[in-house]
Amino acid sequence: MDIDEEYRYAKEHEYDIAQICLQGHVVNAESMAKPKHNQKSCSMCGSPTTTTCQKCGNPIRGHSYSRDPIFVPDWKPPLHCHECGAPYPWTDETLKAVRELASAAPNLSKKEKQELEQDIADLSSRRGGHLN
Ligand SMILES: [Zn+2]
Ligand SMILES: [Zn+2]
Repeated sequence: MDIDEEYRYAKEHEYDIAQICLQGHVVNAESMAKPKHNQKSCSMCGSPTTTTCQKCGNPIRGHSYSRDPIFVPDWKPPLHCHECGAPYPWTDETLKAVRELASAAPNLSKKEKQELEQDIADLSSRRGGHLN
């Protein structure tokens, strides 16, 4: 998707396109409205930034144009693509980190770890579904 197409998409859908680093730091929640804030790499962690779903190529939704920007609370990146439902790279990273923590916990039985992992997966998909 080139920049013109992205712009049309944003206008049509009343959302700006968010630029987010692969670790989930929000670089620019209004990459169309404020292109000067765009960065190739994250200034916090140095990871490459992206504006699209890695799976289907649809833009990541940023700030909504239909809301008064003054009242937008701290904007959080979505966890899953609103088009294809694939978890974004930072969602994978978060899940991975939590799973690693869980598997390193010394007092959990194998069964407890499996249950915990299932809970994390459920939680992640539920939260993703509610963000649109
Ligand atoms: Zn980052
Ligand atoms: Zn997608």
